[in-house]
Amino acid sequence: MIEMHLSGMKARNGTLIFVCSTCKTPPSFTFGARDKGELALLMLCPKCGIVLGEWNSVEARDRELSDFAKTLRSHAPFPAL
Ligand SMILES: [Zn+2]
Repeated sequence: MIEMHLSGMKARNGTLIFVCSTCKTPPSFTFGARDKGELALLMLCPKCGIVLGEWNSVEARDRELSDFAKTLRSHAPFPAL
């Protein structure tokens, strides 16, 4: 699930880059564990420590980020990095 603090900016080559909406830092991906030990894929801001997204699988993560990118691009122009 993507959290509200995820945003996007455009790199010089036109690629959409996911960033933290608070500090504009690209997120880092890591693993976490929930209450019962289930692993979770996390995307978090290395600067703020805010969780920007959390998923059960790589497939679910990629699908949702891809959809999110399409939504951002449809609201073009998005800000340059
Ligand atoms: Zn941040």
